[in-house]
Amino acid sequence: MFAGRTDVTVIGAGVIGLTCAHALESAGHRVTVVAADSPRVSDVAGGLWLPYATGEGDELLSWAIETYAWLEGIGVRIREYLHLETEEPWWLNALPRDRVRSARARELPAGYDRGWVCQVPLVEMPRHLKALEPRVIVRRTVASLADVPGLVVNCTGLAARELAADPTVVAARGQVVHVTTVPGLPCVCDEDEMIYILPREDRTVVGGSYEPGNDSTAVDPVQTERLLARGRTLAPQLAEAKLLGAQAGLRPVRRGGPRVDRVGDVIHCYGHGGAGLTLSWGCARRVVELAAE
Ligand SMILES: Cc1cc2nc3c(=O)[nH]c(=O)nc-3n(C[C@H](O)[C@H](O)[C@H](O)COP(=O)(O)OP(=O)(O)OC[C@H]3O[C@@H](n4cnc5c(N)ncnc54)[C@H](O)[C@@H]3O)c2cc1C
Repeated sequence: MFAGRTDVTVIGAGVIGLTCAHALESAGHRVTVVAADSPRVSDVAGGLWLPYATGEGDELLSWAIETYAWLEGIGVRIREYLHLETEEPWWLNALPRDRVRSARARELPAGYDRGWVCQVPLVEMPRHLKALEPRVIVRRTVASLADVPGLVVNCTGLAARELAADPTVVAARGQVVHVTTVPGLPCVCDEDEMIYILPREDRTVVGGSYEPGNDSTAVDPVQTERLLARGRTLAPQLAEAKLLGAQAGLRPVRRGGPRVDRVGDVIHCYGHGGAGLTLSWGCARRVVELAAE
């Protein structure tokens, strides 16, 4: 049970840290966010609700569904989304029945014979992260969790590999390309091939790649061309779009799925792989419960 107002330090200001800070503050805690001035993979995320590369299981699913409802509640746009995959996705039946159906043949890109049309949140990531930001973020690199007094929430993503001495956390690089949005672009992902098109309001994100063990955040121009070429096989209209830029980031993948638990005065919340946004609110609600223990 909630024992009252507590001072909590959240370490990390990616989508996980910011959502945890928001949830803790809403629950009445006094929260300080401390974050290094290092790149966040959250800035690279496409913004689609999709439980991808994060493990499987009932708890994960409940976090994802809780996040879906929260995102819809705060006004995030629900998009028609075409999911292409050889196997039926493990999370499909968790969606409300009126939000998913099998794709009709005429809705499938050339060469595909199976897919699902879903209604899912598509987040404008820069705006979402900005809206979650507290007025002050203390810019500091934490060298050891033991150096931070009081109740601490460790939301350092990939850096938890060192800070929590957790060798099961590994980087899985992903690159995305940003192009202008042109009429008729579908919101679509071929998960087997890891190629997607996400038409956001100000731009369209074409991704991605999934490269475990690759620690480079440098953009690869050859990959940019390849992503655009593969994207055009899903949506020929992409040929009309103008290139705006490209980004690469490192997904914090953890063997066995994200860690959300409490050890003494440290609550860990890291290792969300390819689905940090998708799991963000569900995990943050769990962190609030752990803070009250
Ligand atoms: C190409 C690509 C596309 C993606 N698309 C999606 C998508 O559509 N939907 C989805 O749900 N997920 C997506 N993801 C996954 C998503 O980006 C991650 O799961 C999520 O951003 C992880 O968030 P995080 O807050 O844990 O990490 P980060 O965003 O990396 O934040 C970590 C924070 O910790 C801080 N930090 C690190 N070390 C220290 C330290 N020692 N001291 C203080 N602060 C520290 C950093 O400065 C940063 O603020 C995508 C990922 C990639 C690469």
